[in-house]
Amino acid sequence: MKRTLITGAAGFLGSHLVKKFLNEGHYVIGMDNLITGSLKNIEEFQSNENFEFQNHDVSKFVEIDGALDYILHFASPASPIDYLKIPIQTLKVSSYGAHNLLGLAKEKSARIIVASTSEVYGDPLVHPQVEEYYGNVNPVGPRGVYDEAKRYMEAVTMAYNTYHGVETRIVRIFNTYGPKMRLNDGRVLPAFIGQALRGEDLTIFGDGSQTRSFCYVDDLVDGIHKLLMSDYSQPVNIGNPSEITISQFAEEIIKLTGTTQKVCYEDLPVNDPKQRKPDITKAQSILNWEPKVSREEGLKITYEYFKSLSVEELNKKEHNNFDKYILK
Ligand code: UDP
Repeated sequence: MKRTLITGAAGFLGSHLVKKFLNEGHYVIGMDNLITGSLKNIEEFQSNENFEFQNHDVSKFVEIDGALDYILHFASPASPIDYLKIPIQTLKVSSYGAHNLLGLAKEKSARIIVASTSEVYGDPLVHPQVEEYYGNVNPVGPRGVYDEAKRYMEAVTMAYNTYHGVETRIVRIFNTYGPKMRLNDGRVLPAFIGQALRGEDLTIFGDGSQTRSFCYVDDLVDGIHKLLMSDYSQPVNIGNPSEITISQFAEEIIKLTGTTQKVCYEDLPVNDPKQRKPDITKAQSILNWEPKVSREEGLKITYEYFKSLSVEELNKKEHNNFDKYILK
């Protein structure tokens, strides 16, 4: 039986990956420090004898008993408001954390995949974004702590591949959505659906002409699994190229939820990328992967999930553990 470590296991993507790898017949060790993740996301696996959970901050030395075949490094705050609140932890998890896990991969002769991001392209001047594009990142802007940590993570991952012969994979993840996203993580999809459910206007930042391309989580997880099992060690974009403006997206959410609320406008955050769309030629040709779930279908499933949450959860401003960590 393959033994697989998934960091960020209690988060949105991590918890979906735990499910995928359990279904593939792996023994899964889920690791998380619960700073933005929630045990609720992995409740369903707690009784599975092929799953164990370890509460640990991967920025500190990571020790695992026994053999390991695969490591998936998916621990990191991932929402712009998260980076603003916990910038140092955001830097550490993709630098010290990635370094620790690469060391562990070397020690255990395990294959490792690290979760990089479309944010390595910054506010991109090349559209759609191809993997060869170096990006347009402001290192000292509010997003710098995330973007530069992820860029460092790619560099250290490639160095372990080249100099230590570790089998590494790098996935550049574009905007992804689905059940188990945090309702109040500040990102546009949960923000709009939460506002519709609470009977508030939908807040468009800027004039709403900026674009994003949203991928349903099941498609993403499938792409990540395929990349990990491939022999390709250069970065690969995984995302859905169906591009939409934020204004159009607000209209889709209004239609989906049937809300009678309107849109309202707020200032565009500093360094907010104006356009984002993955070029997925590499994923198509190397992995034979492309997304299958339409936005209409994916949004319906996601809306059902958010509707199933309790009223308390809907009205809670935050449900994460920032305070605990900021006080440390
Ligand atoms: N956005 C918005 N209203 C919100 C939240 C976000 O208009 O309530 C915009 C945001 O400015 C950005 C886009 O939606 O242009 C996507 O933002 P998100 O935070 O989801 O992720 P990003 O792709 O910027 O990392």
